[in-house]
Amino acid sequence: MKIIIHGGFFSESATNQETKKAKQEALSSIVTRSYTFLQEHTALETVVFAVSLLESDPLFNAGLGSQIQSDGKVRLSASIMDGKTQRFSGVINIEDVEHPVQVSSKLLNEDDRVLSGEGALDFARENGFEYFDPVTAQRRAEYEAKRGGRGGKGTVGCVALDRYGNLAAATSTGGKGFEIPCRVSDSATVAGNFANQHAGISCTGVGEDIVSASLASKIVTRVTDGFSLESAAKKSFLELKEFDGFAGIIGITSAGEIYHQDSHSYMVWASFDVNLQVFN
Ligand code: ASP
Repeated sequence: MKIIIHGGFFSESATNQETKKAKQEALSSIVTRSYTFLQEHTALETVVFAVSLLESDPLFNAGLGSQIQSDGKVRLSASIMDGKTQRFSGVINIEDVEHPVQVSSKLLNEDDRVLSGEGALDFARENGFEYFDPVTAQRRAEYEAKRGGRGGKGTVGCVALDRYGNLAAATSTGGKGFEIPCRVSDSATVAGNFANQHAGISCTGVGEDIVSASLASKIVTRVTDGFSLESAAKKSFLELKEFDGFAGIIGITSAGEIYHQDSHSYMVWASFDVNLQVFN
């Protein structure tokens, strides 16, 4: 059993050591709780559990405390992929829900599995997800002051390997911040979140770069074809570099290889694999 989570890139507070420490502590606590949860649950249940905790923490740009789009609205995107069944589901630009990853999870058994905007919201309400305002005073102040600018970071994700050898991945984001309303993030696409029986990957970074590189699905495909996770990621990041792409990934393989790589060295992440590791 293994788990790895990330809290995206460290940006708006890159020089603020207190926030950095708070993010590391939050990741450490969430990965520890999620590893305990994994003892009794599947990888699929665990990635929803872990990402829900990350969405509830206003330090991160997912769920509560998400970035605000240029029209003043928060629109959330999240996805989940079950490596065992190879089913992918997600929500794109959903408003007014607390846990977009849980709505994504609910969609996993539907015929129509990726919903956007109003359709996603209608589905959420029909399935008992109540109104929730994800805006925090800090994000509103950043928005008003336009301090966030383009490129706000702090997306969250999780990959888990359970006792049955099954993998799952989930990713959730508030997007880049100040983007054109309804811009589509990579987080609810197979470029940003992907898993099969061989590997699972969750990405963060500039969504457009991640989509251009088809990053998560490409790394998983390379592992499926025989690469180690590290060599699959390294090759994919070399390709990303060709167009100066900005991204970071976390991943696990069915053989138990855990790996993280980023194009810029300030991504925050933590893993639990017998021992706790917290990094940024
Ligand atoms: N990948 C996210 C997006 O482009 C943002 C991030 O990971 O920071 O929407």
